[in-house]
Amino acid sequence: MDLAEMNEYEAFVAGRREAILERLAQAATASGRTRDDVTVLAVSKTVSANEVLCAWHAGYRAFGENRPQELRRKADAIDSTPEMAGARLDMIGNLQTNKINQVLGCAELIHSVSSLHLAEAISKRALAKGLVAKVLLEVNVSGEESKSGFSPALVTEQLDEMLALPGLALEGLMTMAPANDPSEARRTFSGLRELREDLRGRSGRSLDVLSMGMSDDFGIAVEEGSTLIRLGRVVFDPSHPLGE
Ligand SMILES: *Cc1c(COP(=O)(O)O)cnc(C)c1O
Repeated sequence: MDLAEMNEYEAFVAGRREAILERLAQAATASGRTRDDVTVLAVSKTVSANEVLCAWHAGYRAFGENRPQELRRKADAIDSTPEMAGARLDMIGNLQTNKINQVLGCAELIHSVSSLHLAEAISKRALAKGLVAKVLLEVNVSGEESKSGFSPALVTEQLDEMLALPGLALEGLMTMAPANDPSEARRTFSGLRELREDLRGRSGRSLDVLSMGMSDDFGIAVEEGSTLIRLGRVVFDPSHPLGE
Protein backbone atom coordinates (compact mmCIF):
# COMPACT_ATOMS: atom_id res chain seq x y z
CA MET A 1 0.00 0.00 0.00
CA ASP A 2 1.25 3.52 -0.68
CA LEU A 3 0.68 6.22 1.89
CA ALA A 4 -2.59 7.53 0.42
CA GLU A 5 -4.04 4.00 0.25
CA MET A 6 -2.90 3.34 3.77
CA ASN A 7 -4.59 6.51 5.04
CA GLU A 8 -7.81 5.64 3.26
CA TYR A 9 -7.76 2.08 4.57
CA GLU A 10 -6.99 3.29 8.07
CA ALA A 11 -9.99 5.63 7.93
CA PHE A 12 -12.19 2.68 6.94
CA VAL A 13 -10.86 0.49 9.77
CA ALA A 14 -11.30 3.28 12.33
CA GLY A 15 -14.87 4.09 11.23
CA ARG A 16 -15.80 0.44 11.16
CA ARG A 17 -14.34 -0.03 14.63
CA GLU A 18 -16.64 2.66 16.01
CA ALA A 19 -19.66 0.88 14.50
CA ILE A 20 -18.50 -2.48 15.88
CA LEU A 21 -18.00 -1.02 19.36
CA GLU A 22 -21.47 0.52 19.26
CA ARG A 23 -23.05 -2.84 18.41
CA LEU A 24 -20.88 -4.46 21.07
CA ALA A 25 -22.02 -1.93 23.68
CA GLN A 26 -25.70 -2.63 22.90
CA ALA A 27 -25.19 -6.38 23.17
CA ALA A 28 -23.18 -6.06 26.37
CA THR A 29 -25.94 -3.96 27.94
CA ALA A 30 -28.44 -6.66 27.00
CA SER A 31 -26.41 -9.11 29.09
CA GLY A 32 -25.94 -6.74 32.03
CA ARG A 33 -22.37 -5.79 31.17
CA THR A 34 -20.42 -3.05 29.41
CA ARG A 35 -18.36 -3.21 26.27
CA ASP A 36 -15.18 -3.17 28.35
CA ASP A 37 -16.17 -6.59 29.69
CA VAL A 38 -15.58 -8.06 26.24
CA THR A 39 -12.17 -8.45 24.60
CA VAL A 40 -12.12 -7.82 20.86
CA LEU A 41 -9.65 -9.88 18.88
CA ALA A 42 -8.97 -8.61 15.35
CA VAL A 43 -8.42 -11.79 13.32
CA SER A 44 -5.64 -10.83 10.94
CA LYS A 45 -5.21 -14.16 9.12
CA THR A 46 -6.17 -12.77 5.70
CA VAL A 47 -4.28 -9.47 5.89
CA SER A 48 -0.67 -8.32 5.87
CA ALA A 49 1.36 -6.61 8.56
CA ASN A 50 0.44 -3.23 6.99
CA GLU A 51 -3.25 -3.76 7.63
CA VAL A 52 -2.47 -4.96 11.14
CA LEU A 53 -0.64 -1.69 11.76
CA CYS A 54 -3.67 0.23 10.45
CA ALA A 55 -5.83 -1.69 12.91
CA TRP A 56 -3.41 -0.88 15.70
CA HIS A 57 -3.66 2.82 14.81
CA ALA A 58 -7.46 2.49 14.86
CA GLY A 59 -7.27 1.19 18.43
CA TYR A 60 -7.19 -2.63 18.22
CA ARG A 61 -4.76 -4.09 20.71
CA ALA A 62 -5.29 -7.86 20.31
CA PHE A 63 -4.97 -9.97 17.18
CA GLY A 64 -5.71 -13.57 16.26
CA GLU A 65 -4.15 -15.98 13.78
CA ASN A 66 -5.22 -19.50 12.86
CA ARG A 67 -1.98 -20.94 11.46
CA PRO A 68 1.28 -21.35 13.40
CA GLN A 69 3.52 -20.13 10.59
CA GLU A 70 1.48 -16.98 9.99
CA LEU A 71 1.27 -16.41 13.74
CA ARG A 72 5.06 -16.39 13.87
CA ARG A 73 5.24 -14.05 10.90
CA LYS A 74 2.85 -11.60 12.54
CA ALA A 75 4.70 -11.91 15.85
CA ASP A 76 7.96 -11.01 14.09
CA ALA A 77 6.29 -8.05 12.34
CA ILE A 78 4.94 -6.81 15.67
CA ASP A 79 8.33 -7.24 17.34
CA SER A 80 9.99 -5.16 14.64
CA THR A 81 7.42 -2.35 14.98
CA PRO A 82 8.29 -0.50 18.21
CA GLU A 83 5.00 1.44 18.31
CA MET A 84 3.16 -1.90 18.54
CA ALA A 85 4.86 -2.86 21.80
CA GLY A 86 2.37 -4.70 24.01
CA ALA A 87 0.22 -5.99 21.14
CA ARG A 88 -1.43 -9.28 22.02
CA LEU A 89 -1.50 -12.20 19.62
CA ASP A 90 -3.68 -15.29 20.12
CA MET A 91 -3.71 -18.66 18.37
CA ILE A 92 -7.28 -19.42 17.34
CA GLY A 93 -6.96 -22.23 14.78
CA ASN A 94 -6.38 -25.96 14.76
CA LEU A 95 -3.03 -26.87 16.21
CA GLN A 96 -1.05 -30.00 15.40
CA THR A 97 1.26 -31.38 18.02
CA ASN A 98 4.34 -30.89 15.83
CA LYS A 99 3.59 -27.14 15.59
CA ILE A 100 3.17 -26.48 19.30
CA ASN A 101 6.68 -25.12 19.76
CA GLN A 102 6.11 -22.50 17.05
CA VAL A 103 3.19 -21.12 19.00
CA LEU A 104 4.39 -21.35 22.60
CA GLY A 105 5.87 -18.12 23.83
CA CYS A 106 4.38 -16.00 21.07
CA ALA A 107 0.67 -16.69 21.56
CA GLU A 108 -0.85 -15.11 24.66
CA LEU A 109 -3.77 -17.56 24.62
CA ILE A 110 -4.39 -20.75 22.62
CA HIS A 111 -8.14 -20.96 21.91
CA SER A 112 -8.23 -24.25 20.14
CA VAL A 113 -7.32 -27.16 22.41
CA SER A 114 -9.58 -29.80 20.94
CA SER A 115 -8.42 -33.06 22.54
CA LEU A 116 -6.85 -34.45 25.70
CA HIS A 117 -3.92 -35.63 23.59
CA LEU A 118 -3.24 -32.07 22.40
CA ALA A 119 -3.64 -30.70 25.94
CA GLU A 120 -1.06 -33.19 27.22
CA ALA A 121 1.36 -32.36 24.42
CA ILE A 122 1.06 -28.60 25.02
CA SER A 123 1.58 -29.06 28.75
CA LYS A 124 4.69 -31.16 28.21
CA ARG A 125 6.27 -28.73 25.75
CA ALA A 126 5.34 -25.70 27.85
CA LEU A 127 7.02 -27.22 30.90
CA ALA A 128 10.12 -27.96 28.86
CA LYS A 129 10.30 -24.24 28.04
CA GLY A 130 9.60 -23.23 31.61
CA LEU A 131 6.18 -21.84 30.69
CA VAL A 132 2.58 -22.36 31.63
CA ALA A 133 0.41 -22.13 28.51
CA LYS A 134 -2.90 -20.30 28.83
CA VAL A 135 -5.51 -22.21 26.88
CA LEU A 136 -9.20 -22.58 26.12
CA LEU A 137 -10.93 -25.84 25.36
CA GLU A 138 -12.71 -25.81 22.01
CA VAL A 139 -16.15 -27.38 22.26
CA ASN A 140 -18.28 -28.50 19.34
CA VAL A 141 -21.58 -27.47 20.90
CA SER A 142 -23.66 -27.66 17.73
CA GLY A 143 -22.48 -31.18 16.88
CA GLU A 144 -21.74 -30.30 13.23
CA GLU A 145 -19.45 -32.95 11.80
CA SER A 146 -17.29 -30.38 10.02
CA LYS A 147 -16.32 -28.73 13.30
CA SER A 148 -13.49 -29.77 15.56
CA GLY A 149 -13.56 -29.73 19.32
CA PHE A 150 -14.67 -31.77 22.30
CA SER A 151 -18.24 -32.91 22.55
CA PRO A 152 -19.83 -31.48 25.71
CA ALA A 153 -19.91 -34.98 27.18
CA LEU A 154 -16.22 -35.64 26.49
CA VAL A 155 -14.98 -32.32 27.87
CA THR A 156 -17.00 -33.00 31.02
CA GLU A 157 -15.46 -36.44 31.33
CA GLN A 158 -11.86 -35.31 30.71
CA LEU A 159 -11.87 -31.93 32.47
CA ASP A 160 -10.19 -33.14 35.66
CA GLU A 161 -7.36 -34.74 33.72
CA MET A 162 -6.75 -31.49 31.87
CA LEU A 163 -6.96 -29.38 35.01
CA ALA A 164 -4.25 -31.57 36.50
CA LEU A 165 -1.75 -30.85 33.70
CA PRO A 166 0.99 -28.69 35.23
CA GLY A 167 1.95 -26.86 32.02
CA LEU A 168 -1.58 -25.66 31.25
CA ALA A 169 -3.66 -22.85 32.69
CA LEU A 170 -7.24 -23.55 31.66
CA GLU A 171 -8.93 -20.20 31.28
CA GLY A 172 -12.24 -21.14 29.67
CA LEU A 173 -14.03 -22.41 26.59
CA MET A 174 -14.27 -21.56 22.90
CA THR A 175 -16.82 -22.47 20.24
CA MET A 176 -17.85 -21.71 16.67
CA ALA A 177 -21.50 -21.50 15.68
CA PRO A 178 -23.05 -22.79 12.46
CA ALA A 179 -22.97 -20.08 9.79
CA ASN A 180 -26.00 -18.16 8.54
CA ASP A 181 -28.43 -19.40 11.15
CA PRO A 182 -28.98 -16.86 13.95
CA SER A 183 -31.26 -19.03 16.07
CA GLU A 184 -28.87 -21.98 15.86
CA ALA A 185 -25.99 -19.60 16.70
CA ARG A 186 -27.86 -18.40 19.80
CA ARG A 187 -28.47 -21.99 20.88
CA THR A 188 -24.78 -22.78 20.41
CA PHE A 189 -23.64 -19.79 22.45
CA SER A 190 -26.11 -20.30 25.28
CA GLY A 191 -25.13 -23.98 25.23
CA LEU A 192 -21.46 -23.09 25.78
CA ARG A 193 -22.38 -20.73 28.61
CA GLU A 194 -24.48 -23.43 30.30
CA LEU A 195 -21.72 -25.99 29.84
CA ARG A 196 -19.32 -23.56 31.52
CA GLU A 197 -21.69 -23.19 34.47
CA ASP A 198 -21.85 -26.96 34.78
CA LEU A 199 -18.05 -27.36 34.58
CA ARG A 200 -17.61 -24.58 37.13
CA GLY A 201 -19.88 -26.41 39.52
CA ARG A 202 -18.01 -29.67 39.04
CA SER A 203 -14.47 -28.31 39.22
CA GLY A 204 -14.64 -25.18 41.35
CA ARG A 205 -12.59 -23.40 38.67
CA SER A 206 -13.95 -20.16 37.30
CA LEU A 207 -13.23 -20.79 33.59
CA ASP A 208 -13.89 -17.11 33.00
CA VAL A 209 -13.21 -16.81 29.29
CA LEU A 210 -15.95 -17.62 26.78
CA SER A 211 -14.45 -17.11 23.31
CA MET A 212 -17.45 -17.00 21.02
CA GLY A 213 -18.72 -14.73 18.27
CA MET A 214 -17.34 -13.87 14.82
CA SER A 215 -18.15 -11.23 12.18
CA ASP A 216 -21.70 -12.36 11.49
CA ASP A 217 -22.81 -13.42 14.95
CA PHE A 218 -20.84 -11.46 17.57
CA GLY A 219 -23.86 -9.47 18.76
CA ILE A 220 -25.76 -12.66 19.55
CA ALA A 221 -22.66 -14.13 21.20
CA VAL A 222 -22.22 -11.15 23.50
CA GLU A 223 -25.91 -11.16 24.40
CA GLU A 224 -25.34 -14.78 25.45
CA GLY A 225 -22.33 -13.97 27.62
CA SER A 226 -19.26 -14.01 25.37
CA THR A 227 -16.20 -12.42 26.98
CA LEU A 228 -14.00 -12.52 23.86
CA ILE A 229 -15.08 -12.07 20.24
CA ARG A 230 -12.95 -13.02 17.25
CA LEU A 231 -13.61 -10.65 14.34
CA GLY A 232 -11.99 -11.03 10.95
CA ARG A 233 -13.83 -9.80 7.87
CA VAL A 234 -15.95 -7.22 9.64
CA VAL A 235 -12.77 -5.53 10.87
CA PHE A 236 -10.60 -5.73 7.78
CA ASP A 237 -12.79 -6.20 4.69
CA PRO A 238 -14.61 -3.11 3.33
CA SER A 239 -16.86 -5.37 1.26
CA HIS A 240 -18.10 -7.26 4.31
CA PRO A 241 -21.06 -5.49 5.90
CA LEU A 242 -21.62 -5.02 9.59
CA GLY A 243 -24.83 -6.98 9.80
CA GLU A 244 -27.67 -7.31 12.34
C1 LIG B 1 -11.28 -16.77 10.64
C2 LIG B 1 -11.71 -17.04 12.02
C3 LIG B 1 -12.49 -16.11 12.72
C4 LIG B 1 -12.96 -14.79 12.11
O1 LIG B 1 -13.96 -15.06 11.17
P1 LIG B 1 -14.83 -13.87 10.53
O2 LIG B 1 -16.13 -14.52 10.18
O3 LIG B 1 -14.08 -13.36 9.36
O4 LIG B 1 -15.02 -12.85 11.59
C5 LIG B 1 -12.84 -16.41 14.03
N1 LIG B 1 -12.46 -17.57 14.61
C6 LIG B 1 -11.73 -18.50 13.96
C7 LIG B 1 -11.36 -19.75 14.67
C8 LIG B 1 -11.34 -18.27 12.64
O5 LIG B 1 -10.61 -19.19 12.00
